[in-house]
Amino acid sequence: MALTGLQIYKLLPQTNCKECGFPTCLAFAMKLAAKQAELSACPYVSEEAKAQLAAASAPPIRLVAVEGPGHKVEVGNETVMFRHEKTFYHPCGLFVRVKDTDDVKAAVEEAMGYTVEYVGMNLFLDGVAIEAASGDAGTFAEAVKTARSVTDKPFILIASDPEVLKAGAEADEGGKPLLYAATTDNWEAVAAVAKEKGLPVVARADTLDELADLTEKIKGAGIQDIVLDPGVRDPANTLVVFTQLRRLALKKNFRPLGYPIIAFPGEGASDGIEEAMLAAQQIAKYAGFVVLDTFTPASAYALLVWRTNVYTNPQEPIKVQPGIYEINEPGPEAPVMVTTNFSITYFSVANEVDGSGLPGWLLVADAEGMSVLTAWAAGKFDAERIAKTVKTTGIEGKISHRKLIIPGHVAVLLGELEEELPGWEILVGPREAVDLPGFLKLWSPS
Ligand code: SF4
Repeated sequence: MALTGLQIYKLLPQTNCKECGFPTCLAFAMKLAAKQAELSACPYVSEEAKAQLAAASAPPIRLVAVEGPGHKVEVGNETVMFRHEKTFYHPCGLFVRVKDTDDVKAAVEEAMGYTVEYVGMNLFLDGVAIEAASGDAGTFAEAVKTARSVTDKPFILIASDPEVLKAGAEADEGGKPLLYAATTDNWEAVAAVAKEKGLPVVARADTLDELADLTEKIKGAGIQDIVLDPGVRDPANTLVVFTQLRRLALKKNFRPLGYPIIAFPGEGASDGIEEAMLAAQQIAKYAGFVVLDTFTPASAYALLVWRTNVYTNPQEPIKVQPGIYEINEPGPEAPVMVTTNFSITYFSVANEVDGSGLPGWLLVADAEGMSVLTAWAAGKFDAERIAKTVKTTGIEGKISHRKLIIPGHVAVLLGELEEELPGWEILVGPREAVDLPGFLKLWSPS
């Protein structure tokens, strides 16, 4: 049973020393009760109090990790229903299913080889779910070995026979795969494999009551790391049941269902597009692992970008480093453009110039991660800051001219900039990055 803020407060040192980052022990206790703080933030809690507080301070959704030799995926440990209450911290793992009867090497190479750059981040899928479609332990183990030979990312091993699962787990050298799945029929044998190998395991049942009962049994067998499969597959029921699970864990602190959820969108969809749509729903609400049956670069790109946005703190814009960026090997006569350090702004401008094939110097001003208009309105992208960027980056030593192109949206800064940068000619560029290539074609340094 969860403790109230006041009950927690009585167990704290009550010295109000502030070392936990909160002004008083009571404030810290309230945050602990709301699952918005970690007990470890207070260095003065007695061992006795720790034991009593452990249940209250444990995350309502357990953190579960799967690993390959070169990549680890941690899911769970979420404390809020919605991102605007507090940032989501552990992006759900995106896996692609491969059957041991397929051309495993080719399928794994294709899906795991896919990477895409998005606003300075390298996005990729997290791992492979290998299914024992053959039902044969030897074939499954060979498939796992083959997959491991081409990727260092984690695996989910899917088999109904515990002996086949065990053979797969033993073949995954250097990995810590997730075992799928323990059911009411086979849970003792699957839990025994998970315990022997120290692996997380999926509990699958068709009702929430059965699922809660099953996780308690698995936990009783000594397994802590459990993932839930409530058996639903269609979009509407998936949304309802996943939301129920999240609410039971977060709002009711119902420990038997306080684990991450695994989803199989391909099993509830009629084609790849519907699968991608359902996967997008599950990324937002509230899957910990999503196993895709269809891999295409188009759907992977959409889902990876969507996931990145769901798990990005909207109050902390993604930024690039202020400074000089060289595009297409610019020489002394190449144009100089200035913009802000909001990632999307930077990449919009840089991609347009890069795609035009024309050389250019891109000066990125520190506008605290805001876009051009927002930063200008907030006073973070004014003539003074732009002039400071010009003077401190050393761009003057790299060029033979004194012309600076400013974004069309801040044309109003032209007069002030001429005062701040005597000897420079200020040119007003286009409002939108997409119009830059046409503008640059007319560029002349003289
Ligand atoms: S660190 Fe501990 S003792 Fe100090 S204010 Fe926070 S809860 Fe109280």
